[in-house]
Amino acid sequence: MSFELITIPCLSDNYAFILFNNENRSALLVDAPEAEPINKVINQKNLNLEKIFITHHHSDHVDGLAKILENHKAITIGAKADIHRLPRLDQYVEAGDKISFENQTGDIFDVSGHTVGHIALYFSSQNFLFSGDSLMALGCGRLFEGTAEQMWHSLSQLMDLPDATLICSGHEYTANNASFALTINPENPDLIKRSEEVKLARTKNLFTVPSTLELEKKTNPFLRPFDKNIRKNLNMIGSTDEEVFSKIRSLKDKF
Ligand code: ZN
Ligand code: FE
Repeated sequence: MSFELITIPCLSDNYAFILFNNENRSALLVDAPEAEPINKVINQKNLNLEKIFITHHHSDHVDGLAKILENHKAITIGAKADIHRLPRLDQYVEAGDKISFENQTGDIFDVSGHTVGHIALYFSSQNFLFSGDSLMALGCGRLFEGTAEQMWHSLSQLMDLPDATLICSGHEYTANNASFALTINPENPDLIKRSEEVKLARTKNLFTVPSTLELEKKTNPFLRPFDKNIRKNLNMIGSTDEEVFSKIRSLKDKF
Protein backbone atom coordinates (compact mmCIF):
# COMPACT_ATOMS: atom_id res chain seq x y z
CA MET A 1 0.00 0.00 0.00
CA SER A 2 1.34 3.44 -0.76
CA PHE A 3 0.14 6.56 0.96
CA GLU A 4 0.31 10.19 0.01
CA LEU A 5 0.13 13.21 2.29
CA ILE A 6 -1.37 16.50 1.19
CA THR A 7 -0.91 19.71 3.16
CA ILE A 8 -3.89 22.03 2.67
CA PRO A 9 -3.62 25.71 3.58
CA CYS A 10 -6.83 27.04 5.13
CA LEU A 11 -7.99 30.40 6.55
CA SER A 12 -5.05 32.78 6.98
CA ASP A 13 -2.37 30.48 8.43
CA ASN A 14 -3.92 27.08 9.26
CA TYR A 15 -3.09 23.71 7.78
CA ALA A 16 -5.30 20.67 7.36
CA PHE A 17 -3.82 17.38 6.19
CA ILE A 18 -5.12 14.60 4.04
CA LEU A 19 -3.51 11.19 4.12
CA PHE A 20 -4.74 8.90 1.37
CA ASN A 21 -4.20 5.44 -0.01
CA ASN A 22 -2.98 5.80 -3.57
CA GLU A 23 -4.53 2.54 -4.69
CA ASN A 24 -8.17 2.96 -3.60
CA ARG A 25 -8.30 6.75 -2.91
CA SER A 26 -9.47 6.26 0.71
CA ALA A 27 -8.64 9.38 2.69
CA LEU A 28 -8.20 10.56 6.25
CA LEU A 29 -8.55 14.27 7.00
CA VAL A 30 -6.84 15.85 10.00
CA ASP A 31 -8.61 18.97 11.22
CA ALA A 32 -11.29 20.97 9.45
CA PRO A 33 -10.46 24.68 9.60
CA GLU A 34 -12.39 25.54 6.44
CA ALA A 35 -14.52 23.43 4.08
CA GLU A 36 -13.82 24.96 0.70
CA PRO A 37 -10.09 24.25 0.20
CA ILE A 38 -10.51 20.78 1.70
CA ASN A 39 -13.51 19.87 -0.50
CA LYS A 40 -11.56 21.12 -3.47
CA VAL A 41 -8.65 18.76 -2.81
CA ILE A 42 -11.01 15.84 -2.21
CA ASN A 43 -12.75 16.46 -5.54
CA GLN A 44 -9.61 17.16 -7.55
CA LYS A 45 -7.88 14.04 -6.29
CA ASN A 46 -11.07 12.00 -6.50
CA LEU A 47 -10.80 10.83 -2.89
CA ASN A 48 -13.17 8.90 -0.67
CA LEU A 49 -13.17 10.66 2.65
CA GLU A 50 -13.37 7.88 5.21
CA LYS A 51 -12.33 9.48 8.47
CA ILE A 52 -11.87 12.92 9.97
CA PHE A 53 -9.63 13.37 12.98
CA ILE A 54 -9.92 16.53 15.09
CA THR A 55 -6.90 17.51 17.22
CA HIS A 56 -8.61 20.00 19.53
CA HIS A 57 -11.74 22.07 20.03
CA HIS A 58 -10.61 25.49 18.75
CA SER A 59 -12.79 26.95 16.02
CA ASP A 60 -9.91 27.21 13.55
CA HIS A 61 -9.68 23.40 13.64
CA VAL A 62 -13.37 22.43 13.57
CA ASP A 63 -15.41 25.16 11.87
CA GLY A 64 -15.32 23.54 8.44
CA LEU A 65 -16.57 20.19 9.69
CA ALA A 66 -20.34 20.56 9.10
CA LYS A 67 -19.88 21.75 5.55
CA ILE A 68 -17.41 18.98 4.71
CA LEU A 69 -19.86 16.41 6.07
CA GLU A 70 -22.61 17.78 3.79
CA ASN A 71 -20.66 16.44 0.84
CA HIS A 72 -18.84 13.46 2.33
CA LYS A 73 -19.86 10.69 4.66
CA ALA A 74 -16.94 10.24 7.02
CA ILE A 75 -16.43 8.87 10.50
CA THR A 76 -15.46 11.76 12.77
CA ILE A 77 -13.05 11.26 15.66
CA GLY A 78 -12.01 13.54 18.51
CA ALA A 79 -10.96 13.66 22.13
CA LYS A 80 -13.12 12.08 24.81
CA ALA A 81 -12.07 14.90 27.13
CA ASP A 82 -13.65 17.43 24.76
CA ILE A 83 -17.05 15.78 24.16
CA HIS A 84 -18.78 18.76 25.76
CA ARG A 85 -17.24 21.33 23.45
CA LEU A 86 -16.60 19.57 20.16
CA PRO A 87 -19.26 19.28 17.46
CA ARG A 88 -21.01 15.89 17.76
CA LEU A 89 -18.58 13.23 16.54
CA ASP A 90 -18.85 9.50 15.86
CA GLN A 91 -15.90 8.30 17.92
CA TYR A 92 -14.16 9.67 21.00
CA VAL A 93 -10.64 8.62 21.92
CA GLU A 94 -8.03 9.18 24.60
CA ALA A 95 -4.32 8.58 25.14
CA GLY A 96 -3.35 4.98 24.46
CA ASP A 97 -6.31 4.33 22.13
CA LYS A 98 -5.69 3.26 18.58
CA ILE A 99 -7.56 4.14 15.45
CA SER A 100 -7.37 2.31 12.18
CA PHE A 101 -7.12 3.70 8.70
CA GLU A 102 -6.59 1.47 5.68
CA ASN A 103 -4.94 -1.30 7.69
CA GLN A 104 -2.64 1.22 9.38
CA THR A 105 -2.78 1.72 13.12
CA GLY A 106 -2.72 5.23 14.50
CA ASP A 107 -1.76 5.83 18.12
CA ILE A 108 -3.45 8.55 20.14
CA PHE A 109 -1.32 10.77 22.37
CA ASP A 110 -2.55 13.24 24.91
CA VAL A 111 -0.65 16.44 24.15
CA SER A 112 -2.42 18.83 26.51
CA GLY A 113 -1.01 22.28 27.08
CA HIS A 114 -2.39 24.53 24.32
CA THR A 115 -5.76 23.15 25.40
CA VAL A 116 -6.52 20.47 27.95
CA GLY A 117 -7.71 17.47 25.95
CA HIS A 118 -5.63 18.21 22.87
CA ILE A 119 -4.73 14.95 21.14
CA ALA A 120 -2.22 13.95 18.47
CA LEU A 121 -2.33 11.07 16.01
CA TYR A 122 0.76 9.02 15.15
CA PHE A 123 1.16 6.44 12.41
CA SER A 124 4.35 4.56 13.21
CA SER A 125 4.22 2.61 9.95
CA GLN A 126 4.27 5.81 7.89
CA ASN A 127 6.24 8.03 10.31
CA PHE A 128 3.51 10.67 10.41
CA LEU A 129 2.62 12.67 13.50
CA PHE A 130 -0.40 14.96 13.34
CA SER A 131 0.37 17.28 16.21
CA GLY A 132 -2.15 20.11 15.77
CA ASP A 133 -1.18 23.03 17.99
CA SER A 134 1.12 21.08 20.32
CA LEU A 135 4.52 20.60 18.68
CA MET A 136 4.87 23.04 15.79
CA ALA A 137 7.64 23.95 13.36
CA LEU A 138 10.21 25.80 15.53
CA GLY A 139 7.55 26.33 18.16
CA CYS A 140 4.72 24.98 20.23
CA GLY A 141 1.18 26.12 20.89
CA ARG A 142 0.44 28.93 23.29
CA LEU A 143 -0.73 27.75 26.72
CA PHE A 144 -4.40 28.77 26.65
CA GLU A 145 -5.63 26.12 29.08
CA GLY A 146 -2.83 23.87 30.24
CA THR A 147 0.30 24.51 32.25
CA ALA A 148 3.92 24.64 31.15
CA GLU A 149 4.37 21.38 33.05
CA GLN A 150 1.67 19.72 30.92
CA MET A 151 3.07 21.03 27.65
CA TRP A 152 6.61 20.03 28.54
CA HIS A 153 5.34 16.55 29.37
CA SER A 154 3.45 16.44 26.06
CA LEU A 155 6.47 17.52 24.04
CA SER A 156 8.76 15.14 25.91
CA GLN A 157 6.61 12.19 24.83
CA LEU A 158 6.78 13.29 21.22
CA MET A 159 10.56 13.66 21.39
CA ASP A 160 10.79 9.91 21.98
CA LEU A 161 9.37 9.19 18.51
CA PRO A 162 11.80 8.31 15.70
CA ASP A 163 13.86 11.18 14.28
CA ALA A 164 12.38 10.60 10.83
CA THR A 165 8.84 11.33 12.08
CA LEU A 166 7.15 13.93 9.92
CA ILE A 167 5.64 16.61 12.15
CA CYS A 168 2.37 17.73 10.56
CA SER A 169 1.35 20.73 12.66
CA GLY A 170 -1.57 23.10 12.46
CA HIS A 171 -0.17 26.51 11.51
CA GLU A 172 2.30 28.42 9.35
CA TYR A 173 3.96 30.30 12.20
CA THR A 174 7.51 29.24 11.40
CA ALA A 175 9.03 32.55 10.28
CA ASN A 176 7.94 34.31 13.46
CA ASN A 177 9.00 31.30 15.52
CA ALA A 178 12.43 31.43 13.87
CA SER A 179 12.89 35.12 14.71
CA PHE A 180 12.04 34.38 18.32
CA ALA A 181 14.24 31.28 18.51
CA LEU A 182 17.23 33.29 17.33
CA THR A 183 16.81 35.72 20.24
CA ILE A 184 17.47 32.97 22.78
CA ASN A 185 19.73 30.63 20.80
CA PRO A 186 21.62 32.80 18.28
CA GLU A 187 24.72 30.58 18.40
CA ASN A 188 22.93 27.47 17.09
CA PRO A 189 24.24 26.85 13.53
CA ASP A 190 21.37 24.52 12.63
CA LEU A 191 18.88 27.16 13.75
CA ILE A 192 20.64 29.89 11.77
CA LYS A 193 20.58 27.71 8.67
CA ARG A 194 16.94 26.76 9.14
CA SER A 195 15.90 30.37 9.75
CA GLU A 196 17.42 31.35 6.43
CA GLU A 197 15.68 28.49 4.67
CA VAL A 198 12.37 29.42 6.27
CA LYS A 199 12.72 33.06 5.26
CA LEU A 200 13.49 32.09 1.69
CA ALA A 201 10.62 29.59 1.57
CA ARG A 202 8.14 32.17 2.81
CA THR A 203 9.21 34.77 0.25
CA LYS A 204 8.28 32.14 -2.35
CA ASN A 205 5.04 31.38 -0.49
CA LEU A 206 6.16 27.80 0.15
CA PHE A 207 4.98 25.83 3.20
CA THR A 208 7.46 25.21 6.01
CA VAL A 209 5.22 22.46 7.40
CA PRO A 210 5.58 19.50 7.77
CA SER A 211 9.05 19.26 9.26
CA THR A 212 10.92 16.32 10.76
CA LEU A 213 11.39 15.55 14.42
CA GLU A 214 15.13 15.38 13.80
CA LEU A 215 15.18 18.99 12.61
CA GLU A 216 12.91 20.13 15.46
CA LYS A 217 15.19 18.49 18.03
CA LYS A 218 18.17 20.37 16.58
CA THR A 219 16.51 23.77 16.21
CA ASN A 220 13.23 24.18 18.10
CA PRO A 221 14.04 25.92 21.42
CA PHE A 222 10.91 24.45 23.03
CA LEU A 223 12.50 21.01 22.64
CA ARG A 224 15.87 22.22 23.93
CA PRO A 225 15.48 23.60 27.47
CA PHE A 226 18.56 21.55 28.42
CA ASP A 227 20.71 23.40 25.85
CA LYS A 228 23.67 25.03 27.61
CA ASN A 229 23.65 28.16 25.46
CA ILE A 230 19.92 28.74 25.89
CA ARG A 231 20.31 28.31 29.64
CA LYS A 232 23.25 30.70 29.73
CA ASN A 233 21.37 33.28 27.68
CA LEU A 234 18.37 33.04 30.01
CA ASN A 235 20.48 33.04 33.16
CA MET A 236 19.01 29.66 34.12
CA ILE A 237 22.03 27.36 34.33
CA GLY A 238 20.80 25.56 37.48
CA SER A 239 17.08 25.37 36.60
CA THR A 240 15.09 22.28 35.64
CA ASP A 241 14.14 21.63 32.01
CA GLU A 242 10.54 22.36 32.89
CA GLU A 243 11.46 25.75 34.39
CA VAL A 244 13.51 26.67 31.34
CA PHE A 245 10.71 25.52 29.04
CA SER A 246 8.23 27.64 31.00
CA LYS A 247 10.49 30.68 30.68
CA ILE A 248 10.89 30.16 26.92
CA ARG A 249 7.11 29.89 26.53
CA SER A 250 6.47 33.10 28.48
CA LEU A 251 9.14 34.99 26.52
CA LYS A 252 7.53 33.86 23.27
CA ASP A 253 4.13 35.07 24.49
CA LYS A 254 5.59 38.56 24.79
CA PHE A 255 7.66 38.42 21.60
ZN1 ZN B 1 -5.68 25.96 18.74
FE1 FE C 1 -5.00 26.63 15.89
